[in-house]
Amino acid sequence: MATLQPVRGTHDLLPQEMRAHRHVSDSARAVAACYGFDEMATPIFEFANVFKRTLGDTSDIVTKEMYTFTDKGGDEITLRPENTAGVARSFISEGLAQNAPLKFFYSGPMFRYERPQKGRLRQFHQIGVELVGVATVQADLEVIACGARVLDDLGVLDKTVLELNTLGDAESRSGYRDALVDYLRGYLDHLSEESRDRLERNPLRILDSKDEGDRRVIADAPVFTDFLNEESQTFFADLRAGLDGMGIAYKLNPRLVRGLDYYCHTAFEFTTTALGAQGAVLAGGRYDGLIGMMGGAQTPGVGWAGGIERLSMLCGEALPPPRPIAIVPVGASTKDVAFQLAETLRRDGFRIDLGYSGNVSKRMKRANKLGACAAILLGEDELLRDEATIRHMDSGEQECAPMATLPDVLARYKTT
Ligand code: ATP
Ligand code: MG
Repeated sequence: MATLQPVRGTHDLLPQEMRAHRHVSDSARAVAACYGFDEMATPIFEFANVFKRTLGDTSDIVTKEMYTFTDKGGDEITLRPENTAGVARSFISEGLAQNAPLKFFYSGPMFRYERPQKGRLRQFHQIGVELVGVATVQADLEVIACGARVLDDLGVLDKTVLELNTLGDAESRSGYRDALVDYLRGYLDHLSEESRDRLERNPLRILDSKDEGDRRVIADAPVFTDFLNEESQTFFADLRAGLDGMGIAYKLNPRLVRGLDYYCHTAFEFTTTALGAQGAVLAGGRYDGLIGMMGGAQTPGVGWAGGIERLSMLCGEALPPPRPIAIVPVGASTKDVAFQLAETLRRDGFRIDLGYSGNVSKRMKRANKLGACAAILLGEDELLRDEATIRHMDSGEQECAPMATLPDVLARYKTT
């Protein structure tokens, strides 16, 4: 029977959960549209190299989390673990450079082979924005403000803290990297095996370690901000001044390093304490090196991705299903008229439920169970007069109206 279970870390989105997901993605799409982000989609699988080359050999995603397989044609394929690399690939392969700056919104499934737990799945869903082609701080500000607005619209901004850091430019980072490696070498015995492994290849990621011993060593490690060159300092100062100007509160977190290797300057994460260990709900940063690294013309970029599952959990409230109008034929001879009326009203944009069997009382029971806002009762006598009875379910009031006026009588229940 095991094969009839969904694969571990994946799950079905039944209507109730789907509504919660839609609520998150629809709100985000609407907010992003106000900021000028147009929706696009990239394929959910790419050549493995799209991720391997860009996310860095030592990132968690590449070393542990990718779903990679060889297809029947012998190509190495990866189910996308995130969407920024796909957008960058598309920017290059579609020749979009001449149209830059470009602003994209996306929403869809991502895949990571992780240990499943609450808020951590193997197929999960993200919304995200990418602003490609702008090197100035205004882009970072727009992107962060858009993220904050998405959270605000969902009513969860108050439950989050915006953590902010800078990773500086390449020059600053290499200075810091050397200092960090020097420092960490003095504590080799105290570091976890994983961190010792990373020391030469990707020491910055050690700052992100969850290991207790590592964290004690890291507590006194050199701090990035002391190594920023003037340009990087100015960029960060402008960013903070801009956020202050917009009234967006943030907390500096010098240990915040994004899990992916292609980031520079701005790194941020909206985190919450309301979801247990899975604190990050929406995270992003600047990735000026990415497109160049993939073989395109050097093109700056900045963006974020939010986890739909985590955001919808944070929203908390279950959204009620939409309420239909029930059509209830009274007596067998009105069935055909009922069927036709259902089609007519559906074409007019009403949500109509026509039961499948049973007498009036059984059909009214179904209408109640579905939470119908109104019922249209079609009796034989009334039909002879070309009329129908409308019962307004919440008030219990009933009225009789000519068939032709039904769209007006029911206008208040229109859903589209
Ligand atoms: P974490 O530290 O929780 O592993 P991450 O740094 O790997 O997060 P990102 O790559 O920044 O996450 O992805 C952006 C957002 O996507 C996260 O803030 C989170 O809301 C969501 N997310 C990431 N991985 C998962 C997952 N396995 N299941 C559900 N949501 C996820
Ligand atoms: Mg992760």
